[in-house]
Amino acid sequence: MSMTIKETLETKVTSTCDVLVCGGGFGGISAALAAARMGKKVILLEKQYILGGLGTAGLVTIYLPLCDGCGRQVSFGIAEELFRLSISMGYEDRYPDNWLDDNDPSRRTEKDKRFEVRYNPNLFAILVEKLLLENGVEILYGTYAVGVSKAADRIEAVIIENKSGRQAIAVESVVDATGDCDIAWFAGAPTDTFKQGNILAAWYYSFGEKGYGLNIVGCCDIPDSQKTATNQVELLIPKRFAGLEGKELSEMTQLSHASTLNHVLRKRENDPTLVPTSVATIPQVRMTRKIVGEYTLHDTEMHKEFPDSVGMVSDWRKRGPVYEVPFSTLYSRQVKNLITAGRCTSVTDSMWDIMRVIPCCAVTGQAAGTAAAMTDDFTSLNVEGLQAELERNGVVLHEKDLK
Ligand SMILES: Cc1cc2nc3c(=O)[nH]c(=O)nc-3n(C[C@H](O)[C@H](O)[C@H](O)COP(=O)(O)OP(=O)(O)OC[C@H]3O[C@@H](n4cnc5c(N)ncnc54)[C@H](O)[C@@H]3O)c2cc1C
Repeated sequence: MSMTIKETLETKVTSTCDVLVCGGGFGGISAALAAARMGKKVILLEKQYILGGLGTAGLVTIYLPLCDGCGRQVSFGIAEELFRLSISMGYEDRYPDNWLDDNDPSRRTEKDKRFEVRYNPNLFAILVEKLLLENGVEILYGTYAVGVSKAADRIEAVIIENKSGRQAIAVESVVDATGDCDIAWFAGAPTDTFKQGNILAAWYYSFGEKGYGLNIVGCCDIPDSQKTATNQVELLIPKRFAGLEGKELSEMTQLSHASTLNHVLRKRENDPTLVPTSVATIPQVRMTRKIVGEYTLHDTEMHKEFPDSVGMVSDWRKRGPVYEVPFSTLYSRQVKNLITAGRCTSVTDSMWDIMRVIPCCAVTGQAAGTAAAMTDDFTSLNVEGLQAELERNGVVLHEKDLK
Protein backbone atom coordinates (compact mmCIF):
# COMPACT_ATOMS: atom_id res chain seq x y z
CA MET A 1 0.00 0.00 0.00
CA SER A 2 1.39 3.40 -0.88
CA MET A 3 -0.31 6.21 0.95
CA THR A 4 0.91 9.55 2.24
CA ILE A 5 -0.58 12.04 4.66
CA LYS A 6 0.12 15.75 4.59
CA GLU A 7 1.24 17.48 7.79
CA THR A 8 1.53 21.20 8.25
CA LEU A 9 4.03 21.89 10.99
CA GLU A 10 5.09 25.03 12.74
CA THR A 11 7.82 24.03 15.15
CA LYS A 12 8.73 26.22 18.08
CA VAL A 13 12.40 26.94 18.81
CA THR A 14 12.61 26.20 22.52
CA SER A 15 16.40 26.43 23.10
CA THR A 16 19.56 27.81 21.59
CA CYS A 17 23.14 26.70 22.11
CA ASP A 18 26.64 27.16 20.74
CA VAL A 19 27.27 23.43 20.27
CA LEU A 20 24.56 20.81 19.97
CA VAL A 21 25.84 17.26 20.39
CA CYS A 22 23.41 14.66 19.07
CA GLY A 23 23.96 11.24 20.66
CA GLY A 24 25.41 10.41 24.07
CA GLY A 25 27.72 7.47 23.32
CA PHE A 26 31.50 7.71 23.77
CA GLY A 27 31.75 9.97 20.70
CA GLY A 28 29.12 12.41 21.98
CA ILE A 29 30.27 12.36 25.60
CA SER A 30 33.82 13.27 24.53
CA ALA A 31 32.61 15.99 22.16
CA ALA A 32 30.31 17.57 24.75
CA LEU A 33 33.01 17.54 27.41
CA ALA A 34 35.62 19.09 25.10
CA ALA A 35 33.26 21.84 23.90
CA ALA A 36 31.98 22.66 27.40
CA ARG A 37 35.54 22.95 28.72
CA MET A 38 36.08 25.68 26.16
CA GLY A 39 33.34 27.72 27.81
CA LYS A 40 30.62 27.08 25.24
CA LYS A 41 26.93 26.51 25.90
CA VAL A 42 26.54 22.83 25.07
CA ILE A 43 23.39 20.72 24.86
CA LEU A 44 23.79 16.94 24.61
CA LEU A 45 20.71 15.09 23.47
CA GLU A 46 20.24 11.37 23.84
CA LYS A 47 17.23 9.25 22.96
CA GLN A 48 17.84 6.81 25.83
CA TYR A 49 17.75 7.74 29.52
CA ILE A 50 21.40 6.78 30.04
CA LEU A 51 24.72 7.98 28.64
CA GLY A 52 27.27 5.68 26.98
CA GLY A 53 25.40 4.29 23.96
CA LEU A 54 26.67 0.87 22.96
CA GLY A 55 29.26 1.12 25.72
CA THR A 56 26.56 1.05 28.44
CA ALA A 57 23.02 0.44 27.14
CA GLY A 58 24.52 -1.91 24.54
CA LEU A 59 26.54 -3.79 27.25
CA VAL A 60 29.73 -3.61 25.19
CA THR A 61 32.01 -2.97 28.13
CA ILE A 62 35.54 -3.71 26.95
CA TYR A 63 37.44 -0.42 26.67
CA LEU A 64 39.71 -1.54 23.85
CA PRO A 65 43.38 -0.51 23.79
CA LEU A 66 44.88 2.93 24.08
CA CYS A 67 48.22 1.37 23.08
CA ASP A 68 49.73 -0.07 19.92
CA GLY A 69 50.48 -3.46 21.50
CA CYS A 70 54.21 -2.79 21.19
CA GLY A 71 54.61 -0.79 24.39
CA ARG A 72 53.53 2.67 23.19
CA GLN A 73 50.39 4.51 24.29
CA VAL A 74 48.88 6.17 21.19
CA SER A 75 45.48 7.56 22.30
CA PHE A 76 45.52 10.27 24.97
CA GLY A 77 43.40 13.16 26.23
CA ILE A 78 39.72 12.40 26.86
CA ALA A 79 40.18 8.83 25.55
CA GLU A 80 42.47 8.18 28.52
CA GLU A 81 40.41 10.29 30.95
CA LEU A 82 37.25 8.24 30.24
CA PHE A 83 39.25 5.01 30.47
CA ARG A 84 40.42 5.96 33.98
CA LEU A 85 36.94 7.20 34.94
CA SER A 86 35.39 3.89 33.82
CA ILE A 87 37.39 1.99 36.45
CA SER A 88 37.68 4.68 39.11
CA MET A 89 35.29 2.68 41.35
CA GLY A 90 36.56 -0.75 40.32
CA TYR A 91 37.00 -2.80 37.16
CA GLU A 92 35.33 -5.99 35.96
CA ASP A 93 38.15 -7.73 34.10
CA ARG A 94 41.36 -7.39 32.03
CA TYR A 95 42.99 -4.92 34.45
CA PRO A 96 46.19 -3.62 32.76
CA ASP A 97 48.46 -3.49 35.83
CA ASN A 98 51.45 -3.36 33.47
CA TRP A 99 50.16 0.06 32.27
CA LEU A 100 48.53 1.48 35.37
CA ASP A 101 50.62 0.23 38.28
CA ASP A 102 54.01 -0.75 36.93
CA ASN A 103 56.75 1.66 35.92
CA ASP A 104 58.66 -0.99 34.04
CA PRO A 105 58.10 -0.25 30.31
CA SER A 106 59.29 -3.73 29.34
CA ARG A 107 56.09 -5.15 30.87
CA ARG A 108 53.93 -3.08 28.48
CA THR A 109 54.40 -5.57 25.67
CA GLU A 110 53.30 -8.51 27.82
CA LYS A 111 51.27 -11.09 25.96
CA ASP A 112 47.50 -10.57 26.27
CA LYS A 113 48.00 -7.40 28.29
CA ARG A 114 47.30 -4.34 26.22
CA PHE A 115 46.21 -1.00 27.71
CA GLU A 116 42.55 -2.09 27.84
CA VAL A 117 40.03 -2.96 30.53
CA ARG A 118 36.50 -4.18 31.20
CA TYR A 119 34.42 -1.71 33.20
CA ASN A 120 30.99 -1.68 34.81
CA PRO A 121 28.45 0.00 32.48
CA ASN A 122 26.15 1.34 35.22
CA LEU A 123 28.93 2.96 37.23
CA PHE A 124 30.42 4.48 34.09
CA ALA A 125 27.09 5.94 32.96
CA ILE A 126 26.45 7.57 36.34
CA LEU A 127 30.01 8.85 36.75
CA VAL A 128 30.18 10.31 33.26
CA GLU A 129 26.81 12.02 33.69
CA LYS A 130 28.18 13.66 36.86
CA LEU A 131 31.34 14.73 35.00
CA LEU A 132 29.35 16.34 32.18
CA LEU A 133 27.03 18.15 34.60
CA GLU A 134 30.03 19.46 36.57
CA ASN A 135 31.38 20.84 33.31
CA GLY A 136 28.13 22.64 32.53
CA VAL A 137 26.72 20.40 29.80
CA GLU A 138 22.91 20.39 29.59
CA ILE A 139 21.77 16.80 29.05
CA LEU A 140 18.40 16.19 27.39
CA TYR A 141 17.40 12.54 27.79
CA GLY A 142 14.55 10.83 26.01
CA THR A 143 15.10 13.19 23.11
CA TYR A 144 15.26 12.10 19.50
CA ALA A 145 16.81 14.28 16.79
CA VAL A 146 14.31 13.81 13.96
CA GLY A 147 15.30 16.40 11.37
CA VAL A 148 17.07 19.65 10.64
CA SER A 149 16.14 23.06 9.36
CA LYS A 150 18.71 24.39 6.89
CA ALA A 151 19.55 27.79 5.49
CA ALA A 152 21.79 27.39 2.42
CA ASP A 153 24.68 25.08 3.38
CA ARG A 154 24.21 25.36 7.15
CA ILE A 155 22.01 23.80 9.80
CA GLU A 156 20.14 26.58 11.60
CA ALA A 157 18.16 24.30 13.93
CA VAL A 158 17.82 20.62 14.82
CA ILE A 159 14.27 19.34 15.19
CA ILE A 160 13.76 17.17 18.26
CA GLU A 161 10.96 15.14 19.77
CA ASN A 162 10.55 14.18 23.41
CA LYS A 163 7.87 14.01 26.09
CA SER A 164 7.18 17.73 25.50
CA GLY A 165 6.41 17.10 21.85
CA ARG A 166 8.13 18.42 18.74
CA GLN A 167 10.47 21.39 19.12
CA ALA A 168 13.63 22.85 17.63
CA ILE A 169 17.02 23.84 19.02
CA ALA A 170 18.76 26.71 17.21
CA VAL A 171 22.47 26.01 16.83
CA GLU A 172 25.80 27.54 15.91
CA SER A 173 27.41 24.15 15.23
CA VAL A 174 26.32 20.52 15.46
CA VAL A 175 28.23 17.35 16.34
CA ASP A 176 26.66 14.24 14.82
CA ALA A 177 27.48 11.52 17.34
CA THR A 178 24.39 9.41 16.66
CA GLY A 179 26.56 6.47 15.57
CA ASP A 180 24.34 6.21 12.48
CA CYS A 181 25.16 9.62 10.99
CA ASP A 182 21.49 10.58 11.29
CA ILE A 183 22.06 14.34 11.36
CA ALA A 184 24.31 14.34 8.29
CA TRP A 185 21.70 12.27 6.50
CA PHE A 186 18.86 14.62 7.52
CA ALA A 187 20.97 17.57 6.36
CA GLY A 188 21.70 16.08 2.94
CA ALA A 189 25.45 15.69 3.52
CA PRO A 190 27.00 12.81 1.55
CA THR A 191 26.82 9.54 3.49
CA ASP A 192 27.54 5.90 2.80
CA THR A 193 26.39 2.64 4.35
CA PHE A 194 28.15 -0.56 5.45
CA LYS A 195 27.96 -2.99 2.54
CA GLN A 196 28.68 -6.20 4.45
CA GLY A 197 25.91 -5.70 7.04
CA ASN A 198 25.95 -6.51 10.76
CA ILE A 199 25.85 -9.99 12.20
CA LEU A 200 23.57 -10.74 15.13
CA ALA A 201 24.96 -10.22 18.64
CA ALA A 202 23.41 -10.90 22.05
CA TRP A 203 25.87 -9.73 24.71
CA TYR A 204 24.24 -9.85 28.14
CA TYR A 205 25.12 -9.92 31.85
CA SER A 206 24.13 -12.79 34.14
CA PHE A 207 24.39 -13.90 37.74
CA GLY A 208 24.84 -17.51 38.82
CA GLU A 209 26.97 -19.86 40.88
CA LYS A 210 30.16 -18.36 39.44
CA GLY A 211 29.00 -14.83 40.24
CA TYR A 212 28.25 -11.88 38.00
CA GLY A 213 29.62 -11.70 34.48
CA LEU A 214 29.39 -10.63 30.86
CA ASN A 215 28.37 -13.22 28.26
CA ILE A 216 29.82 -12.44 24.85
CA VAL A 217 27.33 -14.07 22.51
CA GLY A 218 27.96 -13.30 18.85
CA CYS A 219 31.61 -12.46 18.40
CA CYS A 220 32.99 -9.82 16.05
CA ASP A 221 32.79 -10.20 12.31
CA ILE A 222 35.72 -10.27 9.90
CA PRO A 223 35.62 -7.92 6.90
CA ASP A 224 34.76 -9.95 3.77
CA SER A 225 38.03 -8.78 2.19
CA GLN A 226 40.04 -10.48 4.97
CA LYS A 227 38.17 -13.79 5.15
CA THR A 228 40.07 -16.98 4.40
CA ALA A 229 39.10 -20.66 4.49
CA THR A 230 40.33 -20.89 8.10
CA ASN A 231 39.11 -17.66 9.74
CA GLN A 232 35.35 -17.92 9.18
CA VAL A 233 33.13 -16.54 11.96
CA GLU A 234 30.46 -18.66 13.59
CA LEU A 235 27.19 -16.76 13.10
CA LEU A 236 24.26 -16.95 15.51
CA ILE A 237 21.94 -16.85 12.49
CA PRO A 238 22.77 -16.67 8.76
CA LYS A 239 21.42 -13.16 8.29
CA ARG A 240 22.89 -9.66 8.23
CA PHE A 241 21.38 -6.32 9.22
CA ALA A 242 21.92 -2.81 7.83
CA GLY A 243 20.75 -1.28 11.11
CA LEU A 244 19.02 1.76 9.62
CA GLU A 245 15.38 0.81 9.37
CA GLY A 246 12.78 0.66 12.16
CA LYS A 247 11.22 -2.70 11.37
CA GLU A 248 14.55 -4.38 10.71
CA LEU A 249 16.00 -3.15 14.03
CA SER A 250 12.94 -4.45 15.86
CA GLU A 251 13.31 -7.84 14.21
CA MET A 252 17.01 -7.87 15.05
CA THR A 253 16.27 -7.06 18.70
CA GLN A 254 13.75 -9.92 18.92
CA LEU A 255 16.24 -12.36 17.37
CA SER A 256 18.89 -11.14 19.81
CA HIS A 257 16.53 -11.80 22.74
CA ALA A 258 15.83 -15.30 21.40
CA SER A 259 19.59 -15.96 21.20
CA THR A 260 20.00 -14.75 24.79
CA LEU A 261 17.26 -17.12 25.96
CA ASN A 262 18.89 -20.07 24.14
CA HIS A 263 22.22 -19.20 25.73
CA VAL A 264 20.69 -18.90 29.22
CA LEU A 265 18.92 -22.25 28.81
CA ARG A 266 22.18 -23.91 27.75
CA LYS A 267 24.05 -22.44 30.72
CA ARG A 268 21.28 -23.50 33.08
CA GLU A 269 21.98 -27.14 32.23
CA ASN A 270 25.13 -26.76 34.39
CA ASP A 271 23.94 -23.96 36.68
CA PRO A 272 20.17 -23.93 37.35
CA THR A 273 20.53 -20.72 39.42
CA LEU A 274 21.75 -18.61 36.50
CA VAL A 275 19.61 -15.58 35.56
CA PRO A 276 20.23 -12.80 33.04
CA THR A 277 20.63 -9.55 34.99
CA SER A 278 20.67 -7.19 32.01
CA VAL A 279 20.12 -7.38 28.28
CA ALA A 280 21.03 -4.64 25.82
CA THR A 281 18.47 -1.86 25.54
CA ILE A 282 19.81 -0.56 22.23
CA PRO A 283 20.48 -2.67 19.12
CA GLN A 284 24.00 -4.12 19.02
CA VAL A 285 24.95 -2.88 15.56
CA ARG A 286 28.56 -2.19 14.79
CA MET A 287 28.61 -0.27 11.51
CA THR A 288 25.64 1.37 9.79
CA ARG A 289 26.03 4.76 8.09
CA LYS A 290 28.99 7.15 7.92
CA ILE A 291 29.75 10.53 6.43
CA VAL A 292 31.67 10.83 3.18
CA GLY A 293 34.06 13.48 4.41
CA GLU A 294 36.69 15.66 2.80
CA TYR A 295 39.10 12.74 3.26
CA THR A 296 38.41 9.04 3.75
CA LEU A 297 40.90 7.09 5.84
CA HIS A 298 41.98 3.65 4.60
CA ASP A 299 43.33 0.76 6.67
CA THR A 300 46.50 0.71 4.55
CA GLU A 301 47.41 4.22 5.81
CA MET A 302 49.01 3.07 9.04
CA HIS A 303 52.14 4.98 10.14
CA LYS A 304 51.32 7.76 7.65
CA GLU A 305 51.79 11.32 8.82
CA PHE A 306 48.80 13.61 8.21
CA PRO A 307 49.43 17.35 8.61
CA ASP A 308 45.87 17.82 9.90
CA SER A 309 46.02 14.95 12.43
CA VAL A 310 43.78 15.42 15.48
CA GLY A 311 44.98 12.36 17.40
CA MET A 312 45.96 8.74 16.99
CA VAL A 313 44.37 5.32 17.28
CA SER A 314 45.66 1.76 17.21
CA ASP A 315 44.27 -1.46 15.75
CA TRP A 316 42.50 -3.39 18.51
CA ARG A 317 42.82 -6.60 16.48
CA LYS A 318 46.59 -6.67 16.11
CA ARG A 319 49.80 -5.28 17.52
CA GLY A 320 51.76 -2.63 15.60
CA PRO A 321 49.52 -0.41 13.45
CA VAL A 322 49.12 3.24 14.46
CA TYR A 323 46.85 5.62 12.54
CA GLU A 324 46.87 9.39 12.64
CA VAL A 325 43.28 10.64 12.28
CA PRO A 326 42.94 13.53 9.80
CA PHE A 327 40.59 16.39 10.73
CA SER A 328 39.28 16.18 7.16
CA THR A 329 37.68 12.77 7.92
CA LEU A 330 35.24 14.45 10.32
CA TYR A 331 33.23 16.77 8.05
CA SER A 332 31.94 17.43 4.56
CA ARG A 333 32.06 20.91 3.04
CA GLN A 334 28.45 20.46 1.92
CA VAL A 335 27.14 21.26 5.41
CA LYS A 336 29.54 23.77 6.87
CA ASN A 337 28.58 23.74 10.57
CA LEU A 338 28.22 19.96 10.95
CA ILE A 339 30.96 17.64 12.20
CA THR A 340 30.89 13.91 13.02
CA ALA A 341 32.30 11.94 15.96
CA GLY A 342 32.39 8.27 16.93
CA ARG A 343 31.53 5.39 14.65
CA CYS A 344 30.26 7.53 11.75
CA THR A 345 33.38 9.37 10.56
CA SER A 346 34.78 9.05 7.03
CA VAL A 347 36.66 5.76 6.67
CA THR A 348 36.68 2.91 4.18
CA ASP A 349 34.68 -0.20 5.08
CA SER A 350 37.89 -2.03 6.06
CA MET A 351 39.08 0.88 8.27
CA TRP A 352 35.63 1.11 9.87
CA ASP A 353 36.22 -2.04 11.91
CA ILE A 354 39.24 -0.31 13.48
CA MET A 355 37.70 3.16 13.98
CA ARG A 356 34.34 2.08 15.43
CA VAL A 357 35.67 1.04 18.85
CA ILE A 358 35.47 3.01 22.10
CA PRO A 359 38.93 4.69 22.28
CA CYS A 360 38.70 5.81 18.64
CA CYS A 361 35.21 7.25 19.26
CA ALA A 362 36.63 9.25 22.18
CA VAL A 363 39.54 10.53 20.04
CA THR A 364 37.24 11.78 17.25
CA GLY A 365 34.77 13.07 19.86
CA GLN A 366 37.36 15.27 21.57
CA ALA A 367 38.52 16.62 18.21
CA ALA A 368 34.98 17.28 16.95
CA GLY A 369 33.86 18.95 20.18
CA THR A 370 36.95 21.15 20.34
CA ALA A 371 36.52 22.16 16.70
CA ALA A 372 32.80 22.85 17.19
CA ALA A 373 33.65 25.17 20.09
CA MET A 374 36.08 27.07 17.85
CA THR A 375 34.02 27.66 14.72
CA ASP A 376 30.65 27.40 13.02
CA ASP A 377 32.31 26.76 9.64
CA PHE A 378 34.57 23.70 9.58
CA THR A 379 35.72 24.45 6.04
CA SER A 380 37.56 27.56 7.21
CA LEU A 381 38.77 26.41 10.63
CA ASN A 382 42.38 27.18 11.47
CA VAL A 383 43.50 23.55 11.89
CA GLU A 384 46.78 24.55 13.55
CA GLY A 385 44.77 26.39 16.21
CA LEU A 386 42.66 23.26 16.75
CA GLN A 387 45.77 21.10 17.01
CA ALA A 388 47.34 23.49 19.53
CA GLU A 389 44.18 23.34 21.65
CA LEU A 390 44.13 19.52 21.51
CA GLU A 391 47.82 19.35 22.48
CA ARG A 392 47.14 21.72 25.40
CA ASN A 393 44.61 19.12 26.55
CA GLY A 394 46.99 16.20 26.42
CA VAL A 395 46.46 14.82 22.90
CA VAL A 396 49.53 13.61 20.98
CA LEU A 397 48.96 14.27 17.28
CA HIS A 398 51.78 12.52 15.42
CA GLU A 399 53.42 9.13 15.65
CA LYS A 400 56.88 10.72 15.41
CA ASP A 401 56.17 12.40 18.78
CA LEU A 402 55.40 9.15 20.61
CA LYS A 403 57.77 7.99 23.32
C1 LIG B 1 28.25 -6.45 19.58
C2 LIG B 1 29.26 -5.35 19.66
C3 LIG B 1 30.47 -5.57 20.30
C4 LIG B 1 31.41 -4.56 20.39
N1 LIG B 1 32.55 -4.79 21.10
C5 LIG B 1 33.36 -3.76 21.42
C6 LIG B 1 34.40 -3.90 22.38
O1 LIG B 1 34.61 -4.99 22.91
N2 LIG B 1 35.15 -2.81 22.68
C7 LIG B 1 34.99 -1.61 22.05
O2 LIG B 1 35.74 -0.67 22.34
N3 LIG B 1 34.02 -1.44 21.13
C8 LIG B 1 33.18 -2.47 20.83
N4 LIG B 1 32.13 -2.29 19.97
C9 LIG B 1 32.00 -1.01 19.29
C10 LIG B 1 31.69 0.15 20.21
O3 LIG B 1 31.00 -0.24 21.35
C11 LIG B 1 30.84 1.21 19.53
O4 LIG B 1 31.11 1.33 18.18
C12 LIG B 1 31.07 2.57 20.19
O5 LIG B 1 30.77 2.47 21.57
C13 LIG B 1 30.26 3.59 19.45
O6 LIG B 1 30.22 4.82 20.11
P1 LIG B 1 29.44 6.03 19.43
O7 LIG B 1 29.38 7.10 20.43
O8 LIG B 1 30.01 6.35 18.10
O9 LIG B 1 27.99 5.45 19.09
P2 LIG B 1 26.89 4.79 19.99
O10 LIG B 1 27.46 4.08 21.15
O11 LIG B 1 26.02 4.04 19.05
O12 LIG B 1 26.12 6.04 20.57
C14 LIG B 1 25.23 6.80 19.82
C15 LIG B 1 24.19 7.34 20.77
O13 LIG B 1 23.32 8.19 20.04
C16 LIG B 1 21.99 7.92 20.38
N5 LIG B 1 21.20 8.25 19.19
C17 LIG B 1 21.23 7.64 18.00
N6 LIG B 1 20.43 8.26 17.13
C18 LIG B 1 19.88 9.29 17.80
C19 LIG B 1 18.97 10.31 17.43
N7 LIG B 1 18.47 10.39 16.19
N8 LIG B 1 18.61 11.20 18.37
C20 LIG B 1 19.10 11.14 19.64
N9 LIG B 1 19.97 10.19 20.04
C21 LIG B 1 20.36 9.30 19.12
C22 LIG B 1 21.96 6.45 20.74
O14 LIG B 1 20.92 6.13 21.63
C23 LIG B 1 23.33 6.25 21.38
O15 LIG B 1 23.31 6.42 22.78
C24 LIG B 1 31.17 -3.30 19.82
C25 LIG B 1 29.95 -3.06 19.17
C26 LIG B 1 29.00 -4.07 19.10
C27 LIG B 1 27.69 -3.79 18.43
